[in-house]
Amino acid sequence: MSKKRKRPWGVFLAIALAIVFGSYVGKDMGIFGISFYAIVDTLGTIFLNALKLVVVPLVMASIISGIARVGGEESFKRLGLKIFSFYIGTSLLAILIGLFFVNLISPGTAYISTQIDAHAMERLAVIKEGVANSPEENSFQGLLVSLVPSNIVKALAHGDMLGLIFFSLLFGYAITKTGKTNAQTLMGFFQGLFETMIQFTHLIMKFLPYGVFCLTAKVFMISGLASLESVGWFALTVVLGLFVFMFVALPLLLKFVAKVNPIRHFRAMAPALVTAFSTSSTSATLPITIDCVEKRAGVSNRICSLVIPLGTSINMSGSALYECVAAIFIAQAYGIELSFSMQFLVVAMSLIASIGVAGIPSASLVAIIMILKVIGLPSEGIGLFVAVDRLLDMCRTTVNVFSDSCCAILVARSEGEKRVLSKDIFETTEV
Ligand code: ASP
Repeated sequence: MSKKRKRPWGVFLAIALAIVFGSYVGKDMGIFGISFYAIVDTLGTIFLNALKLVVVPLVMASIISGIARVGGEESFKRLGLKIFSFYIGTSLLAILIGLFFVNLISPGTAYISTQIDAHAMERLAVIKEGVANSPEENSFQGLLVSLVPSNIVKALAHGDMLGLIFFSLLFGYAITKTGKTNAQTLMGFFQGLFETMIQFTHLIMKFLPYGVFCLTAKVFMISGLASLESVGWFALTVVLGLFVFMFVALPLLLKFVAKVNPIRHFRAMAPALVTAFSTSSTSATLPITIDCVEKRAGVSNRICSLVIPLGTSINMSGSALYECVAAIFIAQAYGIELSFSMQFLVVAMSLIASIGVAGIPSASLVAIIMILKVIGLPSEGIGLFVAVDRLLDMCRTTVNVFSDSCCAILVARSEGEKRVLSKDIFETTEV
């Protein structure tokens, strides 16, 4: 038996300290002529780079070894269908929860300032320029085209997730069509690579509390809690929606559909959730998510290797909720009444836009601009809350990661995996 799991209290403490420290110190205070901001920025970036370093080889090895094992099975199609149904189902549920709260609280009507500050305007200009300069990547058509990379080395070098997933899926499937000896050699190689990258992730996780501290402190040094004031009702609506989705809706699904203990799942996922919170990036959190789902929650590699990397690219339930609330908030703030059919359009657009959102910080802002264009609202509207976007990003990214992990549990249980979150795996697994 391996050693008993450690409790991740250190990381929670790191987050709490970082919030206090970051808000108190601000951007200018320093020591020996070096600002604290520069220190946490440098160390946080090093930690983030280490996480990103693992993503490409880990995802590739995970998908290839998983698919090589199931690609030839009849169950493959059924599995794919189930995964997509869970993705769409959970994201839709999240959007509807957001829609309910934004109509109930109506934060836009309570909006207290029409002044958009200079910092917000600057960020808005950068985002709008980004959208204008890369229309292809940001369109649904661009998303489809990026599915099939023309050059795998280029896709790997750019960390192009969808291209990487597509290549790995086909590669894994092709392995099942080669002769037995070749198949075994390749499978052994990718399985070995996968296990090695997991060990690599464990090494990085030893620095988790420090990395989390630096990344969280950095955010609170720039956008302190004071920035929440003018858009308090908006932030409250988003946080309430995310909270109900993550702590009520998903646990109910885990309890009654997957028939597992939700608290155990929260505990198994804790390292991934705090990493998502501090990095605001589902992609950078991916190695830790895979590790938690497979090693701590006990989902098989067969399912985890499909659900988690794919979910990281296309299942963004928290972002979907945020986009819907944001679009309706802007309409309210501009005094525009949205009819039922317009709200339906917002729901549909939020679902589609969330599929295209990349797992990187603030990616939803671009998606919101697109939703605003479709429903005919001024894109300047995002300036109303852009200053608090990063704080809310931390929350929605945590929800994105948790929702992916719940899909993995639901799919694994529906495939009859008894080991998932069982008492045995929960109490005895390492890390
Ligand atoms: N930061 C989010 C993520 O990585 C995406 C978003 O901006 O909503 O999941």
